[in-house]
Amino acid sequence: MNPEHDPIIIIGAGMAGLACANWLHRAGRAVLVLDAADAVGGRVRTDVTPEGFRLDRGFQILLTDYPEARRMFDYGALNLKKYRSGAVVRLADGRATTLENPLQQPLAAFTALASPIGTLTDKLLIAKLAAQLQGQAPEALLAQPSETTLAFLRRYGWSEQIINNFFRPFFGGVYLDRELGTASNFFQFVFQQFIKGDAAVPALGMQQLPEQIAARLPASSLRLNTAVAAVLDAGRRVRLASGETLPAAATVVATDGPAATRLLGSDLPAPLTTAARPTTCTYFATAGAAPSLGHKLLHLNALPGALAHNVAFPAEVSAAVVPAGQGLVSVSTHGAHGLTDEALTERLRPELAAWFGPAARQWQHLRTYRIAQALPVYGPGQPAQQPLRLHGTLFRCGDWAAYPSLNAALGTGRQVADILLSQ
Ligand SMILES: Cc1cc2nc3c(=O)[nH]c(=O)nc-3n(C[C@H](O)[C@H](O)[C@H](O)COP(=O)(O)OP(=O)(O)OC[C@H]3O[C@@H](n4cnc5c(N)ncnc54)[C@H](O)[C@@H]3O)c2cc1C
Repeated sequence: MNPEHDPIIIIGAGMAGLACANWLHRAGRAVLVLDAADAVGGRVRTDVTPEGFRLDRGFQILLTDYPEARRMFDYGALNLKKYRSGAVVRLADGRATTLENPLQQPLAAFTALASPIGTLTDKLLIAKLAAQLQGQAPEALLAQPSETTLAFLRRYGWSEQIINNFFRPFFGGVYLDRELGTASNFFQFVFQQFIKGDAAVPALGMQQLPEQIAARLPASSLRLNTAVAAVLDAGRRVRLASGETLPAAATVVATDGPAATRLLGSDLPAPLTTAARPTTCTYFATAGAAPSLGHKLLHLNALPGALAHNVAFPAEVSAAVVPAGQGLVSVSTHGAHGLTDEALTERLRPELAAWFGPAARQWQHLRTYRIAQALPVYGPGQPAQQPLRLHGTLFRCGDWAAYPSLNAALGTGRQVADILLSQ
């Protein structure tokens, strides 16, 4: 063991681990990134089917104004494709209504219809919050004291009408939490990010994000299909599942929260919150273009009891994700539903047919992704930044050490690199 020459070992090649490796490597430090999976990205993966569909493992977008994403990515090389700002909302009575720029221009967005979405006061309150958040540092928003988003929305004065018709389906989709129990400081951060930036995806799918970071690292610094079984000597050695032991100058645990708990146990500071929110993404192919009713807009379902919560048509945004002449439908169902893939698909079909027309009954089911631990639960009172240094030579990073977002994964990875580089 020679700490002068041993690499810093990073366990996990998700966005947090890759970000940490990126900044350390840029500063000339030797790193070794280990991941149990067969590719980089962690929760940000894209599969290519034999027919040529590119399917993200769960519907996911990049908000282009995320401070950490702007630091990290070459947006031009990612060939980012943007969703239009807004949504088509399916109301509880089955009517669909289109909202263009609801957070940026609430008065214009909500006036076209005799406002089944909310009251005039509701619209003025959106404009008021947008003005309040304007110019505030994202970090300052995250550092605020918090309550649940639902409590914040009610206290701010919004009606139940707009909460149920807009905030619940829209932010419930961001949080994977339609109860809106997620902390209000995170609500304000996300609200500001939607005002300042675009919702975008790389033309070839979300996995292009981690691939861009990984391409900056020497090939020898990344070992895939390599599960770590234990972290030893406060981060000076790691033992692989294969039994091999590797020496380290320091170890950074950049896994998801539950895996970190298994690796670190009592090394983790209390209180420990590694509960996570599940989601299911069901993909369908359509013969010919998909019948979207709002080009490049997300579709949100305000209907209580529905299983198709959010629907997107990814090929409208990037034609590269489908074989020529085909359309793609991505249907997200948040939370636990207790259904098999087949039963869920059969329950989705009539909902989609009522929403998008009878052809939906014939759409070809492509794949179902069930993501049990999609986002860490982030409730009121949880700090937006937990301690990242656990011992002198043992660190952690990842969204579960901060808040549920790509920005947090990238940011905690950079912060750990900064601590290591400053010593
Ligand atoms: C469906 C879905 C939608 C989302 N939507 C958005 C969105 O729109 N916007 C947004 O900002 N965020 C979104 N997120 C959240 C975002 O993807 C995550 O916050 C982020 O990717 C977390 O990165 P991470 O590096 O912290 O963890 P992970 O991506 O979980 O990476 C951890 C890595 O550790 C590896 N690992 C675990 N255990 C071991 C072990 N013992 N040995 C070796 N390797 C191990 C895993 O294989 C994995 O690669 C979404 C997430 C999901 C799943």
